[in-house]
Amino acid sequence: MEKTCKFCQSCGMPLKKDEKGGGTNADGSKSLKFCSLCYQDGKFTSPGITTAKEMQILVKGKMKEMGIPGFLAGFFTYGIPKLERWRSLVGQGDTVRVRETRGERRRG
Ligand SMILES: [Zn+2]
Repeated sequence: MEKTCKFCQSCGMPLKKDEKGGGTNADGSKSLKFCSLCYQDGKFTSPGITTAKEMQILVKGKMKEMGIPGFLAGFFTYGIPKLERWRSLVGQGDTVRVRETRGERRRG
């Protein structure tokens, strides 16, 4: 059984608020991870957005259009880098940092 996510794993919007109830997979089934704004027919609708930061800017802009105050928009977009779509990107960055770690001398 697939786990249903409460929030879109791309933009962080509550999937309950999605009027279509979620995005669609390539086979036409409902996506339980992404909202209909982010994900349709198995593809992300905004290919220009490649980093969590760009997504944060996009979502903040949308919220502004909806009349949501800036501090609330900041609150909602704060967790975006931790969402599934972006987590793998963060992981890649970490790998680079690990390689720079100086080797510790073994005790004994
Ligand atoms: Zn979304």
